[in-house]
Amino acid sequence: MRKPFIAGNWKMFKTIREAREFAAEFRQIYVPSDVKVAVCAPFLQLAALKEAFQGTDIKVGAQNMHFAEEGAYTGEVSAAMLAELQVDYCIIGHSERRQYFNETDETVNKKLHQAFKWNIGPILCVGETLEERDGDRALEVVERQLRGALEGLSEEQVGALTVAYEPVWAIGTGRTASPEQADEMCGHIRRVIGNLYSEEAADRTVIQYGGSVKPSNASELMNMYEIDGALVGGASLKPADFLEIINF
Ligand code: 13P
Repeated sequence: MRKPFIAGNWKMFKTIREAREFAAEFRQIYVPSDVKVAVCAPFLQLAALKEAFQGTDIKVGAQNMHFAEEGAYTGEVSAAMLAELQVDYCIIGHSERRQYFNETDETVNKKLHQAFKWNIGPILCVGETLEERDGDRALEVVERQLRGALEGLSEEQVGALTVAYEPVWAIGTGRTASPEQADEMCGHIRRVIGNLYSEEAADRTVIQYGGSVKPSNASELMNMYEIDGALVGGASLKPADFLEIINF
């Protein structure tokens, strides 16, 4: 049975001091439950968060990593560096990275292989633009992203994967996909994985929805059949809001 999984994506927000303040406040109000929880923060904040969440089951994730083992890649961070900090998860292929930093299905695929190699749980982001949805190409675009991303992964790895469906038009816009739209795409993602691998693998894959998730809409999204969790941007920056979403 899949456990609900709610992860915050802080994007480029919060200094180390602010991250520590968040963690101290969040630890106090957080009560462990059936829901898996993670905070995905900028690289610099990861060590402080690992330390601040010690003794709790709150996980810590990065938002990107390089696909190479090591090398002359100025400004980049490797999976080995994250693994040393015992970072639990890494967001891979977020649409903002695809849009602003030349992330492609091919680099996403290499990063997924690298994350699994270092035992870091990847959160693979897929999602269509508004133009693609309006052109009735959303299902096809997401299938293409998935096929590219999953190339060469084993059935076991895919079963351990988290996929976040994040329609680009719903990110940071306040415009959430309707629960039905989100559920339809999460079901589609599960079918594609089922066809590429097996029903069993598809059944184990955790599928999140992301895009303007907030306390007021979390429960209707989370109660949809195919949606196992949420990847939360803006609303994960305040401990009380994030907690309200976790307690959907
Ligand atoms: P918002 O929740 O701010 O729309 O961001 C969603 C997102 O991109 C999470 O990765």
